[in-house]
Amino acid sequence: MADVGEFPCVECGSSAVEVLRPHAVDRHGKLVVIRDVPMYECGSCGEVYLTPAVMKELDALVARLIAGGADEAIVHYQAA
Ligand SMILES: [Zn+2]
Repeated sequence: MADVGEFPCVECGSSAVEVLRPHAVDRHGKLVVIRDVPMYECGSCGEVYLTPAVMKELDALVARLIAGGADEAIVHYQAA
């Protein structure tokens, strides 16, 4: 998936546009909420899409926080 401003939603064919949304990850009973994660959201059906690059970032971020001993964390994507 290229980093373009928008692309057709696979669910309904409408346009999914880039937005910033909170994203929660529950891993091994530990909860991490990341604010302002860039993702694509369909304006019509509400389906959201994360790019592989962002998913990789989130994965690394959550692993780092959990390794640091956090049980719960709320972080900002850009500051992470
Ligand atoms: Zn849609």
